[in-house]
Amino acid sequence: MALLFPQEANAGYARIAVERGFDRYPDGLTYAIPTELSDLEIGERVMVPLGRGDAPTPGYVIDRSDSPGTRDPDALKWILRRDGSAHGLPAELMSLAKWVSRYYQAPLGLTVSAMLPSAVRRGVGTVKRRMLDVPENPEPTTGTTAKQKAVLKAITSLPAQERPVELNRLKQLSGIRTNGPVDRLLRDGHLVEHRRTEIEAQWNTPVPGELTPDEPTTTQQGIIDHIGGTLGDGFSTHLLHGVTGSGKTEVYIRLIEQVLAGGGMALVLVPEIALTPQTGARLIGRFPGKRVAVLHSGLTAAQRHQQWSLAAGGDADIVLGARSAVFAPIPTERLGLIVVDEEHDSSYKQETVPRYHGRDVAIRRAQLAGCTIVLGSATPALESWWNATRRGVATLHSMPQRAPGLTLPSVRVVDLVDERRNQERSSELIGPTMSHAIRRTLDLDAQILLLLNRRGYSSYITCTNRTCGWVLRCEHCDVSMVEHRSGEVRTGSYVRCHQCETAIRLPSACPDCSRGIAKLGLGTQRIEQELVDRWPELAEPGALHRVDSDSMSTMQDFHEALGDFTAGRTRLLLGTQMIAKGLDVPGVRLVGVINADTAAGLPDFRASERTFQLISQVTGRCGRGSGAGTVVVQTLDPESRAITLAAKHDYVTFAEQELTDRQAIRLPPAGRLGRIVVKDPRHEHAEADARRIADQLGRMAAEDTRVRGPAPCPIARIADSFRFQVEVIAPSASRLQALLGEARQQLLFEPSNRISVDVDPQSLL
Ligand code: ADP
Ligand code: ZN
Ligand code: ZN
Repeated sequence: MALLFPQEANAGYARIAVERGFDRYPDGLTYAIPTELSDLEIGERVMVPLGRGDAPTPGYVIDRSDSPGTRDPDALKWILRRDGSAHGLPAELMSLAKWVSRYYQAPLGLTVSAMLPSAVRRGVGTVKRRMLDVPENPEPTTGTTAKQKAVLKAITSLPAQERPVELNRLKQLSGIRTNGPVDRLLRDGHLVEHRRTEIEAQWNTPVPGELTPDEPTTTQQGIIDHIGGTLGDGFSTHLLHGVTGSGKTEVYIRLIEQVLAGGGMALVLVPEIALTPQTGARLIGRFPGKRVAVLHSGLTAAQRHQQWSLAAGGDADIVLGARSAVFAPIPTERLGLIVVDEEHDSSYKQETVPRYHGRDVAIRRAQLAGCTIVLGSATPALESWWNATRRGVATLHSMPQRAPGLTLPSVRVVDLVDERRNQERSSELIGPTMSHAIRRTLDLDAQILLLLNRRGYSSYITCTNRTCGWVLRCEHCDVSMVEHRSGEVRTGSYVRCHQCETAIRLPSACPDCSRGIAKLGLGTQRIEQELVDRWPELAEPGALHRVDSDSMSTMQDFHEALGDFTAGRTRLLLGTQMIAKGLDVPGVRLVGVINADTAAGLPDFRASERTFQLISQVTGRCGRGSGAGTVVVQTLDPESRAITLAAKHDYVTFAEQELTDRQAIRLPPAGRLGRIVVKDPRHEHAEADARRIADQLGRMAAEDTRVRGPAPCPIARIADSFRFQVEVIAPSASRLQALLGEARQQLLFEPSNRISVDVDPQSLL
């Protein structure tokens, strides 16, 4: 295909990052730009011929230059065409893309593509407009019909700034119904047409009421003054550690006000689960007359594109969104403040390529934009605590007290072993202490929140015969299967694998010895049944709502369930960690944790931190109205640090003790972790590749860097693929990056669908 090679005139050269799962060329491939694409911009999506077969492949323009560099210009291929989609990546986000790609060891093309909402990439939700104008040198208008004359008269009598004019408006002005006269005028050169792709966007509307600002307390004001003093003064990072209900939102709002007053824009990130329409509406309500673009997964593709465009056009004052909103196209020079609320939340970590952490990308973005960033949490991630208290790269601000009028609830930790001794029926999961509290709260007509971080009915099916030892495991994965009950039919139990989603009927007896089966590890469905059996008023329609990923199939369901609870229509909300975050419901007087130990058994060095966070967060949902609240925490491990300190609302002691432990074993945040997972349907191939990677990394690594493995992953097989891991622990992020970067250059991690690299991993399964 001679046409591919640029012997002819070209409009310079571009480096292109192709969109595929491996990158032999992390800096992109060089192509010649045909003259008709001379206005090609950085970030645009194009099609380029790739490989021996010149397969047309999408990619993004990383940069442009007039010279082909060291490449032989005659050997270069041409860019084929622009991709027809609506948007590429705004050029100024390209340096952030490069950082994400390098830091997280992800191919640049895939990174850029992940930074764009797919609706934006595909141009969903746009309307094509036909815009008409008179040509600069009009043809003599002989032989035109009366209707055509009317069109020309209408358009020429418009003031210049109102041209080009949209087709429908022109038809209206000239009193014609069909497109025919306009089309013929176009054909004969009496009119010219510009087609414009536009987005029809709608601004979000505030909820009426509850818009009155609170007068900041002295503590809040001190922090507002301090952080406010850094606005417009370059990059700085602030950790706002405030107990639940201390009024962190008020601090954010005052800072945002200050940024907007100076003509800047603010980016606010919240965990996906916390991003209910109420959150958005509440924020909007505090900024009357300001425009807020909201990006969340409850939007349709078209809405997503619209909100994104509002940010890109610089028309929004505030952009509010979950993890991926960190890539919102806010013009760099306007970005004045980034807020990351609940910064400890693990949903900020993306679990597919690029495996970025929204908070850490936000910090980098603030640095590139030279602006202030505020990370807020009642239970900061130890990484953030470390940055603020040890490394001095963030300033710590503390709000140890709840806002005026709010008290922290008293927390009762109860030992499940004692509870069982005192209860009537051993099968009950809600012990006497929590039962009494539920009874009392229902009598007071107050609301209840119950947390059990395990979904399904029972998560462990085993043989009742101890000498048999049979456990129901997935045929394709190394995990036990979870029993679920389908809605109405109580007998209709089935078991499902939470890794590969395989589902089978629950066997009635042990397949090995024919004895009966036992159900252990009880989940939210089982609690739901116990609740309606024991408290008949909870069986009434709408009284109880269960919230977990089985009962909520869409974000919309979830928003509705929370809406019902907030409005007081639901008496008891039962759920997994989905309900632990951000809910602010004054009617809640009792919060119950059915089993605080669900994280404790996980093979994860953060298990204790997760337990502390979960208990603190769910505790924080209580006592937000008038009247004190009670929290009851059931646990098998009442003396553990995470539980005793969470019950005392003592984050600082917890963080300090936990950090000491992590330092002793040099795990994050005292060291930086990278995790490589190799998967293969053939056990020996997975192991051999992991060994090769471990050996080579071991040879390349400096003395202070540890390479652990290969070892089978905690879940050693998923969907018939065996999984082996190699872990790298380096003293600093830059050392980790240098080592992994070198390994990537030597193509150690390819192809990426078989070998995955996770930098700063959150999930270690
Ligand atoms: P956090 O995000 O720290 O958990 P919120 O920002 O949700 O806390 O605040 C908790 C409650 O306290 C809210 O209802 C808020 O309106 C109220 N509040 C915040 N600051 C003040 C203040 N200075 N005076 C009175 N009430 C306040
Ligand atoms: Zn499975
Ligand atoms: Zn058996």
